[in-house]
Amino acid sequence: MKSFDFDLDAEERSALLKELVARLEAYYQNTSTFSTSPELNIQEIRSFISNPNLANGLSKIEALEKVTAGLEKYAVHTPHPKYFGLYNPRANYAGILADFITATYNPQMAAWSHAPFAAEVEQYVIHEFGKRFGFRDDSIDGVFCTGGAEANLSAILCALNNRYEIFADEGVLGLKKRPVIFCSEEAHHSIHKAARVAGLGSASVVDVPVNEALTMNQEALKRLINERKLSNEDPAILVATGGTTGQGVIDDLKTLSDIAKEHEMWFHVDAAFGGGSILSDRHQHLLAGIEKADSITFDAHKWMSLPMGTSMLITSSKEILSKTFRIATAYMPKDAGELTINDPFAHSIQWSRRFNGLKVYLALLFYGWEGYQNAIDHHMKMGQKLNSLLKESGWSILNPTPLPVTCFTDSALKKDIDFVPTVLRNILAKKASWISQYPVNGINCFRACITNYNTQEEDLRALVDELNLERQRYKTECI
Ligand SMILES: *Cc1c(COP(=O)(O)O)cnc(C)c1O
Repeated sequence: MKSFDFDLDAEERSALLKELVARLEAYYQNTSTFSTSPELNIQEIRSFISNPNLANGLSKIEALEKVTAGLEKYAVHTPHPKYFGLYNPRANYAGILADFITATYNPQMAAWSHAPFAAEVEQYVIHEFGKRFGFRDDSIDGVFCTGGAEANLSAILCALNNRYEIFADEGVLGLKKRPVIFCSEEAHHSIHKAARVAGLGSASVVDVPVNEALTMNQEALKRLINERKLSNEDPAILVATGGTTGQGVIDDLKTLSDIAKEHEMWFHVDAAFGGGSILSDRHQHLLAGIEKADSITFDAHKWMSLPMGTSMLITSSKEILSKTFRIATAYMPKDAGELTINDPFAHSIQWSRRFNGLKVYLALLFYGWEGYQNAIDHHMKMGQKLNSLLKESGWSILNPTPLPVTCFTDSALKKDIDFVPTVLRNILAKKASWISQYPVNGINCFRACITNYNTQEEDLRALVDELNLERQRYKTECI
């Protein structure tokens, strides 16, 4: 008898699995009956986790009970149809199964020869998306990343290695001039983080102001590029956003790509959220110009409704990932011989890597491109419906975007700095729905984003009713 039994026996495994599936099913099927937000009692949560101690563990059923109860009790329920929050989707079932499958086979995604199916699935998916984004078939390369933040960092590193031959060996110390990254002030802060991680520092990032339409102000961009050139710096990278996180606004990709070209800058499009529009024939025109990008960030764990950890960096510069990430080693297996393959580890910040691409592939096998087109169209329709319900109730929408994210307030109360936070607090306290706040042109707004393919018109009506009620209460009690 072994002193440990990590496998468990077949009977126990199937009993546990049955129990677990029943629990997960109860959650998955009844997500809408949960409160959207938890009580935040940190002491209670910590003692729930640390008690009992782990010397011998719990019974296995109790252990499963503990972790599922913890996740059900102490979380904002992002898979809830009335979670209108940051782009955290409900995970579709293909994605959930894919994560389970991946954990079981646990393919090693560093060397191609260890997991050729997994490596080729990812390359296939990357190519299909590259083509959809409009890249030339023979120029496409890319890599799965853990999230948009890693994809953006990979893009910045590619851009630097593309521009400076010595970068791989000497790093920033080998550069004569400071490389400068331009993005809009509404770009995701992972660009700043990438600049820090890459050793450039935040001072290398220029936040270009936005114009009335909340897109990057091109006149300001041109002026700032010239200013930096005059101060002997090197404008190297232009980052456009294909759907800003706060306001859902898409920069003018066509014009920005021209400006990048004129100044010989790397053109990166961060389409972590909005990139999903490419899946619908009706909406892909919103991303016009994205085909000019040198690299694109796209998070399948946002609008493709897949579990976390599923992002892609796609590039139209075939050799750049290898140039940036290839390291020669003696110990990595080379038994792929003369095959023209990409070893994943030579393409990525990560080394051993989880098979996250399976989630996208299995979801496409389940639902097809057509299923995704229908889901994207549904999200868009719900976004428009929310806008019209809000307008009917006298709310003003301040972010002009076709994407399903709405920033709104009551224009009579827009100067009252207590209005939005007070109403928001009351709505969150009721735990029936979840929204956030975000400023637009200095005006604090509510922000509601359709993140769930199950969200229906009745959910939108319930949210608007709540907002109307709390607005009324605010007017009677606080003014
Ligand atoms: C969400 C988001 C990111 C960050 O992506 P993670 O997957 O959370 O790392 C980056 N850029 C944009 C535009 C985003 O919306």
